[in-house]
Amino acid sequence: MLTSQAFPENAARAIADDRLRAALGKVREGFGGARRQAAVDRLPEFEALRDAARDIKDHAIAHLDLYLERFERRVEESGGTVHWCETPGEARDLVLRLCREVDARMVTKGKTMIAEEIGLNPFLESHGIVPVETDLGEYIIQLADEPPSHIIAPAIHKTEDQVADLFHEHHRRYGRTRRLDDPGELVDEARQVLRRKYIEADVGITGANFLIAETGSTVIVTNEGNGDLTQTLPRRHIVLATPEKIVPTLEDAATLLRVLARSATGQEFSAYTTFSTGPRRPDDLDGPESFHVVILDNGRSRLVGGPFQDMLRCIKCGACLFHCPVYASVGGHAYGSVYQGPMGAVLTPHLVGLPAARHLPSASSLCGRCEAVCPVRIPIPRMLRRLRERSHSECLSPLPERWAVAAWAWIARRPRVYRLWARFLAGVLRTAAGRSGRLRRLPLSRGWTAGRDVPAPQGETFMDLWRRAGRDAA
Ligand code: SF4
Repeated sequence: MLTSQAFPENAARAIADDRLRAALGKVREGFGGARRQAAVDRLPEFEALRDAARDIKDHAIAHLDLYLERFERRVEESGGTVHWCETPGEARDLVLRLCREVDARMVTKGKTMIAEEIGLNPFLESHGIVPVETDLGEYIIQLADEPPSHIIAPAIHKTEDQVADLFHEHHRRYGRTRRLDDPGELVDEARQVLRRKYIEADVGITGANFLIAETGSTVIVTNEGNGDLTQTLPRRHIVLATPEKIVPTLEDAATLLRVLARSATGQEFSAYTTFSTGPRRPDDLDGPESFHVVILDNGRSRLVGGPFQDMLRCIKCGACLFHCPVYASVGGHAYGSVYQGPMGAVLTPHLVGLPAARHLPSASSLCGRCEAVCPVRIPIPRMLRRLRERSHSECLSPLPERWAVAAWAWIARRPRVYRLWARFLAGVLRTAAGRSGRLRRLPLSRGWTAGRDVPAPQGETFMDLWRRAGRDAA
């Protein structure tokens, strides 16, 4: 359920949640940060690879129609089918129809953000089909009945203790009554429970990191091998993807894979990189009997040719989330969207409309770390600023905020007025602060002063210092 509208309240709740803060320590302690840097340091050509990755994505996006049509032809040649959907509703109905065609009662799912985007699990459940998540993080949050809080580490907000409680509660029905607290034992138990599901499932649904136009293949990377079991054991394999996942060639996919794993988890390569090309052939040992690729647009093609086109380069590595100080403080659920952190703050307003997500572009200090680590060099801060401007010009922010910005803009365009105003304001704040030199409250800044005091300006204004330095130098 989308709750981006309530970001300030969500964030305040998250900051007061001690358990969440303990779990988010993993982000700060280098889940992606330190490991990514170590992986980058081991690869001298990493910056050149980032340029190549950006260029591959830009080229594919500039020729989306060409490569998507080529992909469709190759999939059909290998015995599969490609379906095109405009809206989440169309995609849900189509997946249901594909499941019903094979009388599916249970589907296993490899990690797919598109399934989250279209709310697939509750939809299938409401039609009598049991979805089972097979990625360990997704499985944990499915048991907890929560949405993911990170695009590649969906259960990063959970402590080991919480996972132990969840398994203890939900695995009783499989005769497992002992509460485990060793992480290795917990993983083993999940593996044993999930093994049966892979065998019982009628349909396997996965996402795709890339679609390769040259061969009609879909690519998925995992560290648990769950993607392979999900797509090879059931009778039908359904891939959920979006158009911008297309890349021209196998070689292009290999280049992107090299930056993806390093940026995501600091690995040289993910443990499993699986290419699927059509259904099982007569001499194959395993594989699905049928292969379907569902490509959902959901407004993405509208970004092509506009100021937010660069966002379509995103390869969902999660690096911008791991490096964002706001994400590290409030976690993913505060964003109230399937996509969180800096990339989510740009993407979500385009999927659900800016009025429903107007707070997200402001959930950033604009420190620029997201852009600095993005493997495909997406200028996220620039786009966040643009969304803030749109929010202002479309009058989505409250009236006092708009007045304050308009007054500031008026003053900032008049240097003399600005200097006088700055001198006057500094004097007023110094007087109000008195001997303590700190202000506990400021008009129009209640949110800011709720958590900290404001130091009163000291000495001269910057402009006065600047002019004096100029005079002294002369
Ligand atoms: S915006 Fe860049 S860093 Fe963030 S998830 Fe996408 S590719 Fe990764």
